[in-house]
Amino acid sequence: MASFTLHGIPVSRGISIGRAHKLTPAALDVKHYLVPEEQVEAEVRRLQDAIAKVHRDLQELWTDLPKDAPTELGAFIDVHVLILSDPMISEAPLDIIRSRHYNAEWALVTQIDELSRQFDEIEDEYLRERKHDIQQVAERVLKVLLGTALSVPPLFVGEDQAPPQMIVVAHDISPADMLAFRDRDGGPRSFIGFVTDVGGQNSHTAIVARSLDIPAAVGMSQASRLIEQDDWLIIDGDAGVVICNPSQLVLEQYRARQNALMKARKRLLKLKKTPAVTKDGTAITLLANIELPDDCPAALEAGANGVGLFRSEFLFMGRGAQGLQIPNEDEQFEQYRKAVLAMKGRPVTIRTLDVGADKPLDTTEHTALNPALGLRAIRYCLAEPQMFLVQLRAILRASAFGPVRILVPMLAHAFEIDQTLNLLEQAKARLREESVKFDEKIEVGAMIEIPAAALALPMFVKRMDFLSIGTNDLIQYTLAIDRVDYEVAHLYNPLHPAVLQLIANTIATGHKAGLDVAVCGEMAGDVKLTRLLLGMGLREFSMHPAQLLAVKQEILNCDLNAITSRTRRILRMMEPSEIAAAVEQLQAL
Ligand code: PEP
Ligand code: MG
Repeated sequence: MASFTLHGIPVSRGISIGRAHKLTPAALDVKHYLVPEEQVEAEVRRLQDAIAKVHRDLQELWTDLPKDAPTELGAFIDVHVLILSDPMISEAPLDIIRSRHYNAEWALVTQIDELSRQFDEIEDEYLRERKHDIQQVAERVLKVLLGTALSVPPLFVGEDQAPPQMIVVAHDISPADMLAFRDRDGGPRSFIGFVTDVGGQNSHTAIVARSLDIPAAVGMSQASRLIEQDDWLIIDGDAGVVICNPSQLVLEQYRARQNALMKARKRLLKLKKTPAVTKDGTAITLLANIELPDDCPAALEAGANGVGLFRSEFLFMGRGAQGLQIPNEDEQFEQYRKAVLAMKGRPVTIRTLDVGADKPLDTTEHTALNPALGLRAIRYCLAEPQMFLVQLRAILRASAFGPVRILVPMLAHAFEIDQTLNLLEQAKARLREESVKFDEKIEVGAMIEIPAAALALPMFVKRMDFLSIGTNDLIQYTLAIDRVDYEVAHLYNPLHPAVLQLIANTIATGHKAGLDVAVCGEMAGDVKLTRLLLGMGLREFSMHPAQLLAVKQEILNCDLNAITSRTRRILRMMEPSEIAAAVEQLQAL
C-alpha cells in the first residue's frame, strides 16, 4: 500500500491514528451508530422488514396502475422490484450489519455507495445510468427505516469490547452532522478524527471538531478521492497533516508523540481547581463555549467559571433528518434549564439563535446568494418574531433556575438592539401575566462581531449590559474572507492590524463604560494569543472546555506589567511580519 502525505488546514489539535472511514454525502444524511452484539439480529430484521414493506408497496403500485398507464411505468416498477430482490441489495447490507455492526441505514448506504462506485466505472452509458434506479430504491427503503429508527441509538458494540477507532474522511461535513459523531459520556471513542476536502480554520464544522476535542484537518482538497476505505491514517492536528498508510517507523514516532501529549494533558488536569490569577495578582474569568447542555460536565471538569457562549442553534439543527420541526418552547426550556442546573450556580450565557451562513435550518429554503451576508442570526430572528419570542420565553423561564445571561449575535444597527429589547420586554410582560417566574434583572449582551459594531460602540454600551467579541466573524467580516472557504483560508489572519485595532478598541471602550467584555471567538482558546489579549486588557475568556486548562497555565505564568506596554506597541505596528514576531516574543516575557 502506497504511503503518502496530504497537507491542509489544522483545525483541532492532537494526534489520531486509526482506519479511514469514508463518508459520502448520502451516508451523511443518515444516522450512524454501532449496534450492540445482542441487537444485531434485531437490526437485521429491521432492514429485512423495511425491504419487505417496499416490496409490498411496489406490488401495490403495480396492481393499482390504471389500464391506460404507459407501459414504461410498469417496466419501471419491474426494474425496481428486480433491484430490490437482487442479493446486492437484499443480502449484502445484512452482512454489513452482522460483520461491522453498522445500524441498518448506515449499512444500506455503505452498500449503495459501493455499488454506485462500481456503476460509475461501467462504460455503457445506459447501464451506468441504472445507478439512479438503485439509489431510488434505496431511498424508498431508507424512508421506511426512518419510521422505525431507534430513538436513542446505542453507540458501542458492547461494554467489554473496544470500538473500532475510525477517522472520518469526507468531502465536507456540516456542523450538525459533525455533532452526530459525538460519543456517549464516559464511553470509549469510536470516531477519533476528521479529514475533509473543504472547510476553513473557523468554519463551524471546525469549531465543533474542536469542541469534541478530536484531532481534525480540513481543506485537504483531494483527501476523499485519494484515501481508500480502511486505509491506516495518522492525523497530525497541530500541523494539519494527514499521513496515509504510514511506515512502521513513522507510526512509532507518532505513537510516542501521542503518549507525550497525553501525559501533558494529565499534568494540566492538576490546574483544575487553581484560580486563574496572573503573577501580578489579577484574576481572570475563564468561561466555556458549549453547543449542547451535554457539554456542561466537560466545562465543569475543566474548572470553568461558567458558560460564556451556549450556541443555542445546535438545538435547532439537524432535526429535519429525523422528521422533526424546530424545538417548541417547552423543549427549549428543558434544554436551557438542563444547562443552568448542570452548571450549579455558575452563570450560563445563552446566545440567541444564530442560524444562516454555514448553519442552515433544515426547515427553511436556502436561496441567499451570499448566506454569510444574508438573513443570519439576529436578522433572521427579527424576521421571524414569533419564533424569536418563543426562544426568549424559554430562556427567561430557565433564568428562574440559576444565573442566565442573554447574548445577541450579529447586531449592527441601533434598531436591531431596540427591537430585540422590545421583544424581550414583550416576552417578560406575558410571563408576568401568566405568573411564570423568571429573572427580572436578566442581563442582555451584544456580540461584537461585525466591524460596524466595533466602530460604533457607544450605540451598544448605552443599551447593553455586557459585550462579547466574536472574533471568528469579526475576522471574516473585517477581512472579507469567507471563514468556510479553504481557498482563501490563508488570508484569514487574526493578527491583521485592522482586526487587532477593533478588538482592542472594543475592550477599552466597553471597560470604560463599566461593562464586562469577553472574547468568545476561537482566539480566546489559542494559547499563542493569550498574552496578547491580556495585554489588551481582556479579563474574560470563553472557549471550548478542552482548551481551558492550557490557557489557564499561560495566565498563571504571565505578568501583566511586562506585557501591557509591549502590547501597546504591537497595536501601533502595521507590518504583519513585525506583529507576528512581536506576539511570539510576548511568550518569552
Ligand atoms: C464568533 O463569531 O466569533 C463566535 C463566537 O460565534 P460563531 O463562531 O458561532 O459565529
Ligand atoms: Mg459569530
